[in-house]
Amino acid sequence: MGDTWKLKDKSFEKYLLEEDIQAKVKELASRINIDMAGKKPLFIVVLNGAFIFASDLLKLVTIDCEIAFVKLSSYQGTHSSGVVQQIIGLDLDIKGRSIVVVEDIVDTGLTLVRFLETLREMEPAEVKVAACLLKPEAFGGKFPVDYLCFSIPNKFVVGYGLDYDGLGRNSSDIYQIV
Ligand code: 5GP
Repeated sequence: MGDTWKLKDKSFEKYLLEEDIQAKVKELASRINIDMAGKKPLFIVVLNGAFIFASDLLKLVTIDCEIAFVKLSSYQGTHSSGVVQQIIGLDLDIKGRSIVVVEDIVDTGLTLVRFLETLREMEPAEVKVAACLLKPEAFGGKFPVDYLCFSIPNKFVVGYGLDYDGLGRNSSDIYQIV
């Protein structure tokens, strides 16, 4: 991977640089440290894509907190299938807790809409969403994204945890499809 990256049949070009991503992640962590102080929040990390973002973010969260993981999936190749499957569920009691869902990218938002409904049925005190990327065009504001690094155009991206058919997660920069 250099300025361009060929993965299977697609070419990608460098789009968001590591230093800019890290600066935004730091800003988000600072805000969370203030907003969530004393609430002992539970961060629910949505696997697989959010693993690098969550790792960077949570290393900078200095307040007492817990971290859990769920695996949701609605994507095949470069398009959302629209069908959300909860693969690994949440086995914690979240009643009365402050929750921060950590997601790599919100595209149509359909994956999270369903998951947020499920969480709300479990009567948490509050549910916030932290995302590294948001595609506003496809999303249409279905729910508040409380902590966001970047809004991006409606083009497929890889890197920083995000894959194209399993490849491309292992990069500190984010690449956009050419
Ligand atoms: P949504 O349900 O919001 O349409 O899709 C959310 C999920 O689709 C994300 O968690 C991510 O796994 C995947 N996704 C959406 N857009 C992209 C993209 O541009 N690149 C990659 N690699 N995955 C994406």
